[in-house]
Amino acid sequence: MTKYIFLTGGVVSSVGKGVTAAAIGKLLKERGFHVSAQKLDPYINVDPGTMSPYQHGEVYVLDDGAETDLDLGHYERFIDISLSRVCNITSGQIYSEVISKERRGDFLGGTIQVIPHVTNEIKHRIGLVPKATGAEIVLVEVGGTVGDIESLPFLEALRADALRRGEENTLYVHVTWLPHIGATGELKTKPTQHSVRELRSIGISPDVIAARSDHPIANELRDKIALFCDVDAKAVLPLVTTDVLYEVPMLLESLGVADLILGRLGLEARKTPDWSGWQELIRQERSQRPKVRIALVGKYVELQDAYMSVREAVRHASLAVGVDGEMIWLHSAELEKGRGWDELRKADGIIVPGGFGSRGIEGKIAAARYARESRTPYLGLCLGMQVMVIEFARYVLGSEAPNSTEFDRGTPHPVIDLLPEQRSIGDMGGTMRLGLYPCRLVAGTRSAQAYGESLVQERHRHRFEFNNTYREALAEKGMRYSGLSPDERLVEIAELADHPFMVGSQFHPEFLSRPNRPHPLFRALMAHAAEKAGVRRGS
Ligand code: GLN
Repeated sequence: MTKYIFLTGGVVSSVGKGVTAAAIGKLLKERGFHVSAQKLDPYINVDPGTMSPYQHGEVYVLDDGAETDLDLGHYERFIDISLSRVCNITSGQIYSEVISKERRGDFLGGTIQVIPHVTNEIKHRIGLVPKATGAEIVLVEVGGTVGDIESLPFLEALRADALRRGEENTLYVHVTWLPHIGATGELKTKPTQHSVRELRSIGISPDVIAARSDHPIANELRDKIALFCDVDAKAVLPLVTTDVLYEVPMLLESLGVADLILGRLGLEARKTPDWSGWQELIRQERSQRPKVRIALVGKYVELQDAYMSVREAVRHASLAVGVDGEMIWLHSAELEKGRGWDELRKADGIIVPGGFGSRGIEGKIAAARYARESRTPYLGLCLGMQVMVIEFARYVLGSEAPNSTEFDRGTPHPVIDLLPEQRSIGDMGGTMRLGLYPCRLVAGTRSAQAYGESLVQERHRHRFEFNNTYREALAEKGMRYSGLSPDERLVEIAELADHPFMVGSQFHPEFLSRPNRPHPLFRALMAHAAEKAGVRRGS
């Protein structure tokens, strides 16, 4: 029987419920279990693909092409697993499924209600995770906090699901926040007590309370939460914010959570965790390393969560190269107005990340031009690759006309364009190239050297492609197509021959970077940036 760990949030959101879930998953995987994780998002949107990164941070893409919440990135990176589209569900998906079943007549004219129709659909989807991923233990995180109107059907579904599965197969973890009162220097447990009471009123009693705070949590406070919330003191986890993200699993380990959870679920560890590699990452992250500055020229730089996976991929690569990668966040629209250039000039490496729409495009093109002319290492991620191609075409053709038809439909030089078979599709929905596709590396290129492999699989999320009409003209002037689809029709990676490292990929390498397995392209960028910064290079 599959074991389920349900995570709910109390008091406030954004206190690290996703990281807590991911870290618990890591502890269990280290003990030899096949773990998976699912996020239930109570908002009505059908998927996060069309949601503004300003409100929800980045859209994370899975192997199977699902566009998901960024918490799935935490799960994949911490636990080192690949998730499936069943691992992220929203109220919008649930309701649209229930409504289309009703329209089809599946309910035989019955009255459709939240209980049982909506909750049954939720329970059904929770049950799909072990089937899709083969997991023995599934972590299920409910977005938002207890008390939100939208969360109610999800919590009711969990309650009913847990009852059906039995106590030995399910466990509840409630993640709360302890506010700090500056005047008295105290941490307060009352909001935690209230949120546990709220949870109880809908029939859920937490087994574990993870109490988050930026301040040290005294033992008396732990005892107080245990007493007032009716859980064992050992099951109250004081989770004080760590300066290093990777410390979270170690903190949970030191609190004995894994044994507590396994004991409660009637499981025994299959192996002793080996934390040596993970400890080494923490040690490196804490060590003094030479600074290497990476400018990220994007559109949503005010909210860095919008580039969560890019930032993490830079972190992974920095640790591997032995440098301290410092991000400089630059707004491309500001560059257009002539602002931010001093900052850009300080960068040892430049990343232009993915994006949609024309705002700030000329600023990104200008950043690519600067990278080419100043020989600053550059990595273009999807849109960043397209921008690099547009910039190079403008230089080669001696004209400002080359563009992507996404930004200028009538450009005489559509160097980035829809594929011919896509042009007839009027509706933008469902026309994106999403998920894992193979890419063959071309021997002798910088990209092939970085990968050290000839065939790789990478995650995509885009509509436009390199226009093959321009392949030859740009190649003559030094553009190399270092990664191609196996049938050679699509340019997957482009690079410049006459440049230390100017590489753009049509896919998103950031989604496959892992703490102990940095992505080869990010690693190569960091190594070249370190060289430019004049600091020693690691392995
Ligand atoms: N807007 C571009 C396209 O659709 C790039 C997308 C991206 O960067 N993910 O092709």
